[in-house]
Amino acid sequence: MAKDPVCGTRIDEQNAMQFGLTTEHLKHTFCFCSVKCKARFDEEPGAFAEQFNEWEEWDIPDHAWNPE
Ligand SMILES: [Zn+2]
Repeated sequence: MAKDPVCGTRIDEQNAMQFGLTTEHLKHTFCFCSVKCKARFDEEPGAFAEQFNEWEEWDIPDHAWNPE
């Protein structure tokens, strides 16, 4: 699953790619839930990409979190 950096919706990368709702920014492929979100990101990719990085940190996969 990927996260739409504009609205935070969880989306399937495959779906996003199929509908052309992806944008490459700083070597990362961002996926979007709609053309609206993609357009907003494309207007100001820096601002959204910055937020997205924070989300990524919160979004640590279960297998990476193993305190025991
Ligand atoms: Zn969206």
